[in-house]
Amino acid sequence: MKVGVVGLGAMGAPMARNLHRAGLLAQVWNRSADKAQALAAETGCIAAPDPESLARACAVVISCVSADQDLLAVVDALLPGAHAGLIVCDCSTIAADTAREAAQRLAATGTAFLDTPVSGGVEGAQKGTLSVMAGGEAAALDRARPALEAISARITHMGPVGSGQATKAVNQIMCAGIGLAVTEALAFGGALGLDLDKVVDVVSAGAAGNWFVEKRGHTMIRDDNAVGFKTRLLIKDLEICLAMARAAGGRLPTVETVLPQYRRLVDEGFGDEDHSALFRLQRGLFPKD
Ligand code: NAP
Repeated sequence: MKVGVVGLGAMGAPMARNLHRAGLLAQVWNRSADKAQALAAETGCIAAPDPESLARACAVVISCVSADQDLLAVVDALLPGAHAGLIVCDCSTIAADTAREAAQRLAATGTAFLDTPVSGGVEGAQKGTLSVMAGGEAAALDRARPALEAISARITHMGPVGSGQATKAVNQIMCAGIGLAVTEALAFGGALGLDLDKVVDVVSAGAAGNWFVEKRGHTMIRDDNAVGFKTRLLIKDLEICLAMARAAGGRLPTVETVLPQYRRLVDEGFGDEDHSALFRLQRGLFPKD
């Protein structure tokens, strides 16, 4: 099976490396060509000149780009090379409606579309242990499974196209609440004079333990937020969650609380830092006078 990867960012590049390790990576394409050329030189795969030729040569395309309009631009660029044997698995986090729009644009060519957003962070992408939330036809998922297995530890079929992204929205609401609680609690611990490295380790081993405090606790207390999930991308996810909640006739108070704080981080120049940069603001809850 020939697999092509479109979008070699913090997530897409390590996914491509795992596909290479599994012997499946045929081609890569990235908007900034230097990243594709570097990955091609590293793995021996082909750096495609455009998404069209990548699609023509592959049975599965894995895309992982920033946001909704970016994915639709990629789909439009793939279209001339799309064919009935092709499955596009999109690992970006986008709205469920956008996933359905992408599926519709590809349908006339016979190409199947699966929304396959992932959770597990850059560490999960590097280790190939992501959790995939898949939406689309079961038969297409079965055909794409070898590619998705190369990047993940778990693949869950949630239902038709869009249901993967709906599940990812559930995931992001939980992450928003966890992020808010962890950063607030650590700011409190710091104000009490506790050794925050010890706090992170001891709570990680108990009932308050979670992925975020374990993977980001030690770095956020040092304002080291270089690696991970950019704050501006989380804002995009939370805006999607709020729109979906409004459409469902409800509200998300946790998201409504935290979103202005992430926007403030962007205004203060921290939009490209990992979202654990929220700790920068939470410290302000305990002014030193
Ligand atoms: P990233 O490091 O900022 O990379 C974004 C990628 O998208 C880059 O390859 C970029 O190309 C490409 N791109 C952006 N706009 C494009 C366009 N209009 N056309 C073509 N390519 C475009 O972001 P990331 O962290 O890998 O995240 C990618 C997606 O995965 C996002 O939807 C994010 O929400 C989701 N996600 C991220 C994480 C995480 O922990 N980072 C976890 C789960 C899901 P250039 O190199 O040219 O800029």
